Amino acid sequence: MKSSVNQVPAMAMNATEFRKAGHMLVDEIAALLEQLPQKPVTTGEEPAAIRALISKMKLQDEPMDAVQVLEDAKNLLFDHSLFNGHPRFWGYITSSAAPIGALGDLLAAAVNPNVGAFALSPMATEIERQTIGWIADLIGYNTDCGGIFVSGGNMANFVGFLAARKRMLGPALRQQGLSGAAGLKGDATKTSFTCYCAQGTHTWIQKATELFGHGTDSIRWVDVNEAGQMDTVALQRMLAEDRKAGHFPFLVVGTAGSVGTGVVDPLEEIAGICREQKLWFHVDGAYGAPAAMLPELKNIFKGLDEADSIALDPHKWLYSPLEAGCTLVKDPAHLQDAFSFHPDYYNFGGEGDDQPLNFHEYGPQNSRGFRALKVWLSLRQVGRQGIASMIRKNISDARYLQKLVEETSALEFVSHNLSITCFRFIPPAPPGTHTPGYLNAINEALLNRLQAGGEVFLSNATVNGQYCLRICIVNFRTETSDMDALVHIVLREGAKTVEEFERQLKE
Ligand SMILES: *Cc1c(COP(=O)(O)O)cnc(C)c1O
Repeated sequence: MKSSVNQVPAMAMNATEFRKAGHMLVDEIAALLEQLPQKPVTTGEEPAAIRALISKMKLQDEPMDAVQVLEDAKNLLFDHSLFNGHPRFWGYITSSAAPIGALGDLLAAAVNPNVGAFALSPMATEIERQTIGWIADLIGYNTDCGGIFVSGGNMANFVGFLAARKRMLGPALRQQGLSGAAGLKGDATKTSFTCYCAQGTHTWIQKATELFGHGTDSIRWVDVNEAGQMDTVALQRMLAEDRKAGHFPFLVVGTAGSVGTGVVDPLEEIAGICREQKLWFHVDGAYGAPAAMLPELKNIFKGLDEADSIALDPHKWLYSPLEAGCTLVKDPAHLQDAFSFHPDYYNFGGEGDDQPLNFHEYGPQNSRGFRALKVWLSLRQVGRQGIASMIRKNISDARYLQKLVEETSALEFVSHNLSITCFRFIPPAPPGTHTPGYLNAINEALLNRLQAGGEVFLSNATVNGQYCLRICIVNFRTETSDMDALVHIVLREGAKTVEEFERQLKE
Protein backbone atom coordinates (compact mmCIF):
# COMPACT_ATOMS: atom_id res chain seq x y z
CA MET A 1 0.00 0.00 0.00
CA LYS A 2 2.78 2.39 1.01
CA SER A 3 4.40 2.46 -2.42
CA SER A 4 1.11 3.28 -4.20
CA VAL A 5 0.57 6.22 -1.83
CA ASN A 6 3.89 7.69 -2.88
CA GLN A 7 3.43 6.97 -6.58
CA VAL A 8 2.83 10.01 -8.76
CA PRO A 9 -0.08 9.36 -11.15
CA ALA A 10 1.06 9.30 -14.79
CA MET A 11 -1.03 12.37 -15.52
CA ALA A 12 0.81 14.54 -13.00
CA MET A 13 4.17 14.44 -14.87
CA ASN A 14 7.11 15.23 -12.62
CA ALA A 15 9.20 18.33 -13.35
CA THR A 16 11.88 16.39 -15.27
CA GLU A 17 9.34 14.73 -17.54
CA PHE A 18 7.50 17.97 -18.14
CA ARG A 19 10.70 19.80 -19.08
CA LYS A 20 11.73 17.04 -21.47
CA ALA A 21 8.36 16.93 -23.23
CA GLY A 22 7.95 20.70 -23.23
CA HIS A 23 11.41 21.48 -24.59
CA MET A 24 10.96 18.91 -27.33
CA LEU A 25 7.64 20.44 -28.33
CA VAL A 26 8.87 24.04 -28.25
CA ASP A 27 11.87 23.12 -30.43
CA GLU A 28 9.61 21.40 -32.94
CA ILE A 29 7.18 24.33 -33.06
CA ALA A 30 10.04 26.77 -33.60
CA ALA A 31 11.22 24.66 -36.53
CA LEU A 32 7.72 24.51 -38.00
CA LEU A 33 7.33 28.27 -37.86
CA GLU A 34 10.68 28.67 -39.59
CA GLN A 35 9.71 26.20 -42.32
CA LEU A 36 6.19 27.48 -42.95
CA PRO A 37 6.97 29.37 -46.21
CA GLN A 38 8.48 26.20 -47.71
CA LYS A 39 5.55 23.98 -46.78
CA PRO A 40 2.37 23.63 -48.84
CA VAL A 41 -0.49 25.74 -47.44
CA THR A 42 -2.52 22.53 -47.35
CA THR A 43 -2.04 18.93 -48.40
CA GLY A 44 -5.63 18.86 -49.68
CA GLU A 45 -6.19 15.27 -48.48
CA GLU A 46 -9.66 13.76 -48.38
CA PRO A 47 -11.42 12.96 -45.06
CA ALA A 48 -11.00 9.18 -45.47
CA ALA A 49 -7.25 9.55 -46.02
CA ILE A 50 -6.90 11.66 -42.91
CA ARG A 51 -9.02 9.23 -40.88
CA ALA A 52 -6.92 6.30 -42.05
CA LEU A 53 -3.79 7.90 -40.63
CA ILE A 54 -5.08 7.61 -37.07
CA SER A 55 -7.28 4.57 -37.40
CA LYS A 56 -4.62 2.30 -35.89
CA MET A 57 -4.32 4.39 -32.77
CA LYS A 58 -6.55 2.86 -30.13
CA LEU A 59 -7.37 4.13 -26.69
CA GLN A 60 -5.05 1.92 -24.65
CA ASP A 61 -5.50 0.47 -21.20
CA GLU A 62 -1.93 1.28 -20.21
CA PRO A 63 -0.26 4.71 -20.01
CA MET A 64 2.09 5.88 -22.75
CA ASP A 65 5.20 8.01 -22.57
CA ALA A 66 4.30 11.70 -22.74
CA VAL A 67 7.07 12.57 -25.22
CA GLN A 68 5.92 9.78 -27.53
CA VAL A 69 2.30 10.90 -27.38
CA LEU A 70 3.24 14.50 -28.14
CA GLU A 71 5.57 13.47 -30.94
CA ASP A 72 2.83 11.42 -32.60
CA ALA A 73 0.43 14.35 -32.40
CA LYS A 74 3.04 16.79 -33.65
CA ASN A 75 3.88 14.62 -36.67
CA LEU A 76 0.23 14.12 -37.60
CA LEU A 77 -0.58 17.81 -37.33
CA PHE A 78 2.56 19.19 -38.94
CA ASP A 79 2.21 16.90 -41.97
CA HIS A 80 -1.57 17.01 -42.51
CA SER A 81 -2.83 20.45 -41.66
CA LEU A 82 -3.89 23.57 -43.46
CA PHE A 83 -1.58 26.32 -42.21
CA ASN A 84 -3.41 29.60 -41.93
CA GLY A 85 -0.10 31.01 -40.70
CA HIS A 86 1.44 30.38 -44.13
CA PRO A 87 2.39 33.64 -45.89
CA ARG A 88 0.14 32.69 -48.82
CA PHE A 89 -3.02 31.86 -46.86
CA TRP A 90 -5.74 34.41 -47.58
CA GLY A 91 -8.94 32.34 -47.33
CA TYR A 92 -12.12 33.35 -45.51
CA ILE A 93 -11.14 35.61 -42.59
CA THR A 94 -8.60 33.65 -40.63
CA SER A 95 -5.42 35.27 -39.49
CA SER A 96 -1.91 34.09 -39.03
CA ALA A 97 -1.50 33.49 -35.30
CA ALA A 98 0.98 35.38 -33.16
CA PRO A 99 3.56 32.86 -31.88
CA ILE A 100 3.54 34.60 -28.50
CA GLY A 101 -0.16 33.72 -28.40
CA ALA A 102 0.74 30.02 -28.56
CA LEU A 103 3.04 30.49 -25.57
CA GLY A 104 0.28 32.48 -23.90
CA ASP A 105 -2.17 29.61 -24.29
CA LEU A 106 0.41 27.29 -22.73
CA LEU A 107 0.88 29.68 -19.83
CA ALA A 108 -2.87 30.16 -19.41
CA ALA A 109 -3.50 26.42 -19.38
CA ALA A 110 -0.67 25.84 -16.90
CA VAL A 111 -1.97 28.34 -14.33
CA ASN A 112 -5.53 27.40 -15.36
CA PRO A 113 -7.44 30.29 -13.77
CA ASN A 114 -11.22 30.03 -13.95
CA VAL A 115 -12.02 33.51 -15.20
CA GLY A 116 -15.68 33.22 -14.23
CA ALA A 117 -15.05 34.87 -10.88
CA PHE A 118 -12.41 37.16 -9.45
CA ALA A 119 -11.90 34.92 -6.43
CA LEU A 120 -10.89 32.06 -8.75
CA SER A 121 -8.70 34.16 -11.05
CA PRO A 122 -7.58 37.40 -9.42
CA MET A 123 -4.78 38.40 -11.80
CA ALA A 124 -6.39 36.84 -14.88
CA THR A 125 -9.64 38.75 -14.29
CA GLU A 126 -7.81 42.05 -14.10
CA ILE A 127 -5.71 41.21 -17.19
CA GLU A 128 -8.91 40.46 -19.11
CA ARG A 129 -10.42 43.74 -17.90
CA GLN A 130 -7.28 45.60 -18.97
CA THR A 131 -7.21 43.91 -22.39
CA ILE A 132 -10.82 44.94 -23.03
CA GLY A 133 -9.85 48.52 -22.14
CA TRP A 134 -6.84 48.41 -24.48
CA ILE A 135 -8.94 47.14 -27.38
CA ALA A 136 -11.53 49.87 -26.77
CA ASP A 137 -8.74 52.45 -26.64
CA LEU A 138 -7.17 51.16 -29.88
CA ILE A 139 -10.39 51.55 -31.86
CA GLY A 140 -11.42 54.85 -30.26
CA TYR A 141 -14.25 53.47 -28.12
CA ASN A 142 -15.21 54.47 -24.59
CA THR A 143 -12.49 52.94 -22.39
CA ASP A 144 -14.90 52.68 -19.45
CA CYS A 145 -16.98 50.26 -21.48
CA GLY A 146 -17.88 46.81 -20.29
CA GLY A 147 -16.68 43.84 -22.22
CA ILE A 148 -15.95 40.17 -22.22
CA PHE A 149 -13.93 37.63 -24.14
CA VAL A 150 -15.86 34.86 -25.86
CA SER A 151 -15.00 32.17 -28.40
CA GLY A 152 -15.40 34.23 -31.56
CA GLY A 153 -17.49 36.57 -33.66
CA ASN A 154 -20.69 34.57 -33.51
CA MET A 155 -20.67 34.49 -29.73
CA ALA A 156 -19.55 38.11 -29.51
CA ASN A 157 -22.49 39.18 -31.68
CA PHE A 158 -24.86 36.97 -29.64
CA VAL A 159 -23.75 38.76 -26.47
CA GLY A 160 -24.50 42.13 -28.11
CA PHE A 161 -27.86 40.83 -29.34
CA LEU A 162 -28.83 39.57 -25.88
CA ALA A 163 -27.72 42.76 -24.12
CA ALA A 164 -29.74 44.76 -26.68
CA ARG A 165 -32.93 42.84 -26.24
CA LYS A 166 -32.76 42.80 -22.46
CA ARG A 167 -32.32 46.56 -22.49
CA MET A 168 -34.99 47.17 -25.14
CA LEU A 169 -37.68 44.58 -24.43
CA GLY A 170 -38.05 45.46 -20.78
CA PRO A 171 -38.06 43.69 -17.43
CA ALA A 172 -40.69 41.05 -18.33
CA LEU A 173 -38.28 39.36 -20.73
CA ARG A 174 -36.16 37.56 -18.16
CA GLN A 175 -39.05 35.98 -16.28
CA GLN A 176 -41.79 35.73 -18.91
CA GLY A 177 -39.83 35.38 -22.08
CA LEU A 178 -40.65 36.90 -25.45
CA SER A 179 -44.42 36.53 -25.29
CA GLY A 180 -44.50 38.21 -21.86
CA ALA A 181 -42.43 41.08 -23.21
CA ALA A 182 -44.57 41.32 -26.35
CA GLY A 183 -47.73 41.47 -24.23
CA LEU A 184 -46.42 44.60 -22.58
CA LYS A 185 -45.60 46.22 -25.93
CA GLY A 186 -48.83 45.41 -27.75
CA ASP A 187 -50.68 42.31 -28.88
CA ALA A 188 -48.55 39.36 -27.79
CA THR A 189 -49.78 37.21 -30.66
CA LYS A 190 -48.93 39.78 -33.33
CA THR A 191 -46.00 41.79 -32.06
CA SER A 192 -42.66 40.73 -33.41
CA PHE A 193 -39.38 42.13 -32.08
CA THR A 194 -37.66 43.11 -35.29
CA CYS A 195 -34.01 43.72 -36.05
CA TYR A 196 -32.38 45.39 -39.06
CA CYS A 197 -29.18 44.66 -40.92
CA ALA A 198 -27.82 45.07 -44.43
CA GLN A 199 -28.10 42.37 -47.08
CA GLY A 200 -24.99 40.25 -46.78
CA THR A 201 -24.74 40.45 -42.99
CA HIS A 202 -23.01 37.40 -41.54
CA THR A 203 -25.17 34.36 -40.65
CA TRP A 204 -24.76 34.97 -36.93
CA ILE A 205 -27.92 37.10 -37.10
CA GLN A 206 -29.91 34.15 -38.39
CA LYS A 207 -28.50 31.88 -35.69
CA ALA A 208 -29.21 34.50 -33.01
CA THR A 209 -32.83 35.12 -33.99
CA GLU A 210 -33.42 31.40 -34.28
CA LEU A 211 -31.64 30.30 -31.10
CA PHE A 212 -33.10 33.05 -28.93
CA GLY A 213 -36.68 32.50 -30.00
CA HIS A 214 -37.34 35.44 -32.34
CA GLY A 215 -37.26 33.42 -35.54
CA THR A 216 -35.49 34.43 -38.74
CA ASP A 217 -38.65 36.16 -40.04
CA SER A 218 -37.94 38.92 -37.50
CA ILE A 219 -34.84 39.95 -39.49
CA ARG A 220 -35.29 42.87 -41.86
CA TRP A 221 -32.68 42.67 -44.59
CA VAL A 222 -32.06 46.25 -45.63
CA ASP A 223 -31.09 46.96 -49.24
CA VAL A 224 -27.57 48.10 -49.99
CA ASN A 225 -26.32 50.93 -52.19
CA GLU A 226 -23.89 50.65 -55.11
CA ALA A 227 -20.98 50.43 -52.70
CA GLY A 228 -22.62 47.54 -50.84
CA GLN A 229 -23.45 49.63 -47.75
CA MET A 230 -26.75 49.68 -45.89
CA ASP A 231 -29.20 52.07 -47.55
CA THR A 232 -30.29 54.20 -44.60
CA VAL A 233 -33.33 55.59 -46.44
CA ALA A 234 -34.57 52.04 -46.89
CA LEU A 235 -33.80 51.40 -43.22
CA GLN A 236 -35.98 54.31 -42.12
CA ARG A 237 -38.79 53.21 -44.41
CA MET A 238 -38.73 49.68 -43.01
CA LEU A 239 -38.70 50.94 -39.42
CA ALA A 240 -41.76 53.10 -40.09
CA GLU A 241 -43.62 50.26 -41.81
CA ASP A 242 -42.91 47.85 -38.98
CA ARG A 243 -44.04 50.28 -36.32
CA LYS A 244 -47.23 50.87 -38.28
CA ALA A 245 -47.83 47.12 -38.43
CA GLY A 246 -47.56 46.91 -34.64
CA HIS A 247 -44.08 45.42 -34.49
CA PHE A 248 -41.39 46.51 -32.08
CA PRO A 249 -38.05 47.37 -33.71
CA PHE A 250 -35.28 47.01 -31.11
CA LEU A 251 -31.93 46.55 -32.83
CA VAL A 252 -30.02 47.85 -35.83
CA VAL A 253 -26.83 46.06 -36.79
CA GLY A 254 -24.20 47.95 -38.71
CA THR A 255 -21.34 45.94 -40.13
CA ALA A 256 -17.79 47.29 -39.99
CA GLY A 257 -16.12 45.07 -42.57
CA SER A 258 -18.58 42.66 -44.19
CA VAL A 259 -17.58 39.03 -44.36
CA GLY A 260 -17.90 38.84 -48.15
CA THR A 261 -16.34 42.01 -49.50
CA GLY A 262 -15.19 44.01 -46.44
CA VAL A 263 -17.73 46.83 -46.79
CA VAL A 264 -18.22 49.19 -43.83
CA ASP A 265 -21.80 50.43 -43.40
CA PRO A 266 -22.47 54.19 -42.92
CA LEU A 267 -22.09 53.89 -39.16
CA GLU A 268 -22.56 57.55 -38.33
CA GLU A 269 -25.88 57.75 -40.17
CA ILE A 270 -27.11 54.54 -38.58
CA ALA A 271 -26.04 55.83 -35.15
CA GLY A 272 -28.08 59.00 -35.74
CA ILE A 273 -31.18 57.02 -36.67
CA CYS A 274 -30.79 54.79 -33.62
CA ARG A 275 -30.32 57.79 -31.33
CA GLU A 276 -33.39 59.49 -32.73
CA GLN A 277 -35.58 56.40 -32.64
CA LYS A 278 -34.21 54.99 -29.36
CA LEU A 279 -32.91 51.77 -30.89
CA TRP A 280 -29.93 49.72 -29.83
CA PHE A 281 -27.03 50.19 -32.25
CA HIS A 282 -24.80 47.14 -32.49
CA VAL A 283 -21.75 47.02 -34.73
CA ASP A 284 -20.50 43.73 -36.10
CA GLY A 285 -16.82 44.55 -36.36
CA ALA A 286 -15.70 40.94 -36.02
CA TYR A 287 -13.36 41.40 -38.96
CA GLY A 288 -12.94 45.09 -39.63
CA ALA A 289 -13.13 46.97 -36.31
CA PRO A 290 -9.37 46.84 -35.58
CA ALA A 291 -8.76 48.88 -38.75
CA ALA A 292 -10.52 51.78 -36.99
CA MET A 293 -7.19 52.40 -35.24
CA LEU A 294 -5.68 53.76 -38.47
CA PRO A 295 -5.95 57.55 -38.62
CA GLU A 296 -6.25 57.45 -42.41
CA LEU A 297 -9.47 55.39 -42.10
CA LYS A 298 -11.09 57.66 -39.52
CA ASN A 299 -13.83 58.75 -41.92
CA ILE A 300 -14.89 55.23 -42.83
CA PHE A 301 -15.34 54.26 -39.18
CA LYS A 302 -16.96 57.49 -38.03
CA GLY A 303 -19.85 56.64 -35.70
CA LEU A 304 -18.28 53.44 -34.37
CA ASP A 305 -17.78 55.17 -31.01
CA GLU A 306 -21.54 55.68 -30.77
CA ALA A 307 -22.35 51.97 -30.87
CA ASP A 308 -24.10 50.53 -27.83
CA SER A 309 -22.18 47.33 -28.43
CA ILE A 310 -19.41 46.10 -30.72
CA ALA A 311 -18.32 42.59 -31.63
CA LEU A 312 -14.63 42.25 -32.52
CA ASP A 313 -12.57 39.13 -33.17
CA PRO A 314 -9.00 39.23 -31.90
CA HIS A 315 -8.56 35.92 -33.76
CA LYS A 316 -9.04 37.83 -37.01
CA TRP A 317 -7.31 41.19 -37.30
CA LEU A 318 -5.48 41.21 -33.99
CA TYR A 319 -3.69 38.03 -35.12
CA SER A 320 -4.57 35.98 -32.04
CA PRO A 321 -4.60 32.19 -32.19
CA LEU A 322 -8.12 30.73 -32.20
CA GLU A 323 -10.30 31.19 -30.26
CA ALA A 324 -10.76 34.80 -29.24
CA GLY A 325 -13.74 37.02 -29.82
CA CYS A 326 -14.86 39.89 -27.66
CA THR A 327 -17.86 42.10 -27.09
CA LEU A 328 -17.59 45.68 -25.95
CA VAL A 329 -20.67 47.29 -24.41
CA LYS A 330 -20.80 51.01 -23.83
CA ASP A 331 -22.48 50.71 -20.44
CA PRO A 332 -21.22 47.67 -18.47
CA ALA A 333 -24.53 47.56 -16.54
CA HIS A 334 -26.24 46.33 -19.71
CA LEU A 335 -24.19 43.15 -19.68
CA GLN A 336 -24.90 42.49 -16.04
CA ASP A 337 -28.61 43.21 -16.58
CA ALA A 338 -28.73 40.58 -19.30
CA PHE A 339 -26.63 37.83 -17.74
CA SER A 340 -26.29 38.15 -13.98
CA PHE A 341 -27.52 35.60 -11.47
CA HIS A 342 -26.40 35.21 -7.86
CA PRO A 343 -26.88 31.60 -6.81
CA ASP A 344 -26.40 30.86 -3.13
CA TYR A 345 -23.61 28.38 -3.85
CA TYR A 346 -21.37 31.23 -5.04
CA ASN A 347 -19.38 33.22 -2.52
CA PHE A 348 -18.00 35.78 -4.96
CA GLY A 349 -19.07 39.06 -3.36
CA GLY A 350 -16.69 41.68 -1.98
CA GLU A 351 -16.42 44.25 0.74
CA GLY A 352 -17.35 47.91 0.37
CA ASP A 353 -16.53 49.90 -2.78
CA ASP A 354 -13.88 47.57 -4.14
CA GLN A 355 -16.29 45.07 -5.67
CA PRO A 356 -14.68 42.23 -7.61
CA LEU A 357 -15.43 41.78 -11.31
CA ASN A 358 -17.04 38.37 -11.83
CA PHE A 359 -17.13 37.63 -15.56
CA HIS A 360 -19.80 34.93 -15.19
CA GLU A 361 -22.20 37.87 -14.70
CA TYR A 362 -21.19 39.47 -18.02
CA GLY A 363 -21.87 36.74 -20.51
CA PRO A 364 -23.36 33.32 -21.20
CA GLN A 365 -20.44 31.24 -19.90
CA ASN A 366 -19.94 30.09 -16.35
CA SER A 367 -16.50 28.52 -16.04
CA ARG A 368 -14.24 30.46 -18.38
CA GLY A 369 -10.72 30.00 -19.70
CA PHE A 370 -8.13 32.76 -19.93
CA ARG A 371 -8.53 33.79 -23.60
CA ALA A 372 -7.46 37.35 -22.91
CA LEU A 373 -3.87 36.44 -22.07
CA LYS A 374 -2.73 35.66 -25.61
CA VAL A 375 -4.18 38.97 -26.79
CA TRP A 376 -2.68 40.94 -23.89
CA LEU A 377 0.73 39.41 -24.58
CA SER A 378 0.75 40.21 -28.28
CA LEU A 379 -0.48 43.77 -27.75
CA ARG A 380 2.33 44.31 -25.25
CA GLN A 381 4.85 42.62 -27.53
CA VAL A 382 4.26 44.70 -30.66
CA GLY A 383 2.59 47.80 -29.22
CA ARG A 384 0.11 50.17 -30.78
CA GLN A 385 2.37 51.01 -33.73
CA GLY A 386 3.16 47.37 -34.39
CA ILE A 387 -0.48 46.35 -34.71
CA ALA A 388 -1.30 49.43 -36.80
CA SER A 389 1.54 48.85 -39.23
CA MET A 390 0.60 45.18 -39.81
CA ILE A 391 -3.02 46.12 -40.53
CA ARG A 392 -1.89 48.95 -42.78
CA LYS A 393 0.39 46.59 -44.72
CA ASN A 394 -2.40 44.03 -45.20
CA ILE A 395 -4.61 46.77 -46.64
CA SER A 396 -1.93 48.13 -48.93
CA ASP A 397 -1.12 44.65 -50.26
CA ALA A 398 -4.81 44.05 -51.01
CA ARG A 399 -4.81 47.37 -52.87
CA TYR A 400 -1.62 46.42 -54.69
CA LEU A 401 -3.36 43.26 -55.89
CA GLN A 402 -6.16 45.44 -57.25
CA LYS A 403 -3.57 47.36 -59.28
CA LEU A 404 -1.98 44.17 -60.59
CA VAL A 405 -5.38 42.79 -61.55
CA GLU A 406 -6.30 45.98 -63.36
CA GLU A 407 -3.07 45.80 -65.33
CA THR A 408 -3.60 42.17 -66.35
CA SER A 409 -5.85 41.61 -69.34
CA ALA A 410 -6.97 38.08 -68.38
CA LEU A 411 -8.10 39.30 -64.94
CA GLU A 412 -11.04 41.47 -64.01
CA PHE A 413 -11.12 43.58 -60.87
CA VAL A 414 -14.41 43.36 -58.93
CA SER A 415 -14.02 44.99 -55.50
CA HIS A 416 -11.61 46.15 -52.84
CA ASN A 417 -12.48 47.15 -49.25
CA LEU A 418 -10.12 47.05 -46.25
CA SER A 419 -7.93 43.98 -46.88
CA ILE A 420 -10.37 42.08 -49.11
CA THR A 421 -9.95 42.09 -52.89
CA CYS A 422 -12.26 40.21 -55.27
CA PHE A 423 -11.43 39.52 -58.89
CA ARG A 424 -12.11 37.10 -61.71
CA PHE A 425 -10.22 35.18 -64.32
CA ILE A 426 -11.45 36.03 -67.81
CA PRO A 427 -9.90 33.67 -70.37
CA PRO A 428 -8.68 35.46 -73.46
CA ALA A 429 -11.37 35.38 -76.16
CA PRO A 430 -13.11 37.82 -78.47
CA PRO A 431 -15.19 40.22 -76.33
CA GLY A 432 -18.72 39.05 -75.64
CA THR A 433 -18.09 35.39 -76.38
CA HIS A 434 -18.14 34.25 -72.74
CA THR A 435 -21.54 33.68 -71.18
CA PRO A 436 -21.93 34.68 -67.48
CA GLY A 437 -22.55 31.02 -66.65
CA TYR A 438 -19.32 29.95 -68.33
CA LEU A 439 -17.27 32.57 -66.46
CA ASN A 440 -18.81 31.54 -63.15
CA ALA A 441 -18.09 27.88 -63.85
CA ILE A 442 -14.49 28.60 -64.88
CA ASN A 443 -13.82 30.67 -61.78
CA GLU A 444 -15.38 28.10 -59.48
CA ALA A 445 -13.33 25.31 -61.03
CA LEU A 446 -10.23 27.49 -60.82
CA LEU A 447 -10.84 28.22 -57.13
CA ASN A 448 -11.17 24.51 -56.37
CA ARG A 449 -7.98 23.85 -58.27
CA LEU A 450 -6.09 26.58 -56.42
CA GLN A 451 -7.36 25.44 -53.00
CA ALA A 452 -6.33 21.83 -53.60
CA GLY A 453 -2.98 22.82 -55.09
CA GLY A 454 -1.45 24.06 -51.84
CA GLU A 455 0.54 26.93 -53.37
CA VAL A 456 -1.89 29.64 -52.29
CA PHE A 457 -5.21 29.60 -50.48
CA LEU A 458 -8.02 31.92 -51.53
CA SER A 459 -11.75 31.67 -51.07
CA ASN A 460 -14.74 32.87 -53.04
CA ALA A 461 -17.41 35.56 -53.00
CA THR A 462 -20.43 36.15 -55.19
CA VAL A 463 -20.75 39.80 -56.16
CA ASN A 464 -23.79 40.81 -58.24
CA GLY A 465 -24.18 37.23 -59.42
CA GLN A 466 -20.52 36.94 -60.40
CA TYR A 467 -18.47 34.15 -58.90
CA CYS A 468 -15.22 35.76 -57.75
CA LEU A 469 -11.86 34.75 -56.41
CA ARG A 470 -11.44 36.52 -53.08
CA ILE A 471 -8.44 37.22 -50.90
CA CYS A 472 -8.65 38.55 -47.37
CA ILE A 473 -5.22 39.39 -45.99
CA VAL A 474 -5.14 39.22 -42.19
CA ASN A 475 -1.64 37.83 -42.23
CA PHE A 476 1.56 39.36 -40.87
CA ARG A 477 3.70 36.96 -42.92
CA THR A 478 2.37 38.04 -46.31
CA GLU A 479 4.74 40.13 -48.38
CA THR A 480 3.91 42.37 -51.30
CA SER A 481 5.80 40.02 -53.64
CA ASP A 482 3.29 37.29 -52.70
CA MET A 483 0.69 39.30 -54.66
CA ASP A 484 2.85 39.15 -57.79
CA ALA A 485 3.24 35.43 -57.25
CA LEU A 486 -0.53 35.06 -56.82
CA VAL A 487 -1.26 36.68 -60.17
CA HIS A 488 1.28 34.44 -61.85
CA ILE A 489 -0.23 31.30 -60.28
CA VAL A 490 -3.83 32.33 -61.10
CA LEU A 491 -2.95 32.90 -64.76
CA ARG A 492 -1.09 29.60 -65.02
CA GLU A 493 -3.81 27.56 -63.28
CA GLY A 494 -6.54 29.50 -65.06
CA ALA A 495 -5.13 28.43 -68.42
CA LYS A 496 -5.07 24.81 -67.25
CA THR A 497 -8.67 25.10 -66.07
CA VAL A 498 -9.76 26.33 -69.50
CA GLU A 499 -7.86 23.50 -71.20
CA GLU A 500 -9.64 21.00 -68.99
CA PHE A 501 -13.03 22.52 -69.78
CA GLU A 502 -12.33 22.34 -73.49
CA ARG A 503 -11.16 18.75 -73.24
CA GLN A 504 -14.35 17.81 -71.40
CA LEU A 505 -16.46 19.58 -74.02
CA LYS A 506 -14.88 17.50 -76.78
CA GLU A 507 -15.41 14.19 -74.97
C1 LIG B 1 -16.00 36.11 -39.00
C2 LIG B 1 -17.17 36.95 -38.84
C3 LIG B 1 -18.20 36.58 -37.97
C4 LIG B 1 -18.18 35.26 -37.22
O1 LIG B 1 -17.06 35.17 -36.41
P1 LIG B 1 -16.50 33.77 -35.89
O2 LIG B 1 -15.30 34.15 -35.12
O3 LIG B 1 -16.21 32.96 -37.11
O4 LIG B 1 -17.57 33.16 -35.06
C5 LIG B 1 -19.25 37.45 -37.83
N1 LIG B 1 -19.30 38.61 -38.50
C6 LIG B 1 -18.33 38.99 -39.35
C7 LIG B 1 -18.43 40.31 -40.05
C8 LIG B 1 -17.23 38.17 -39.55
O5 LIG B 1 -16.27 38.55 -40.38
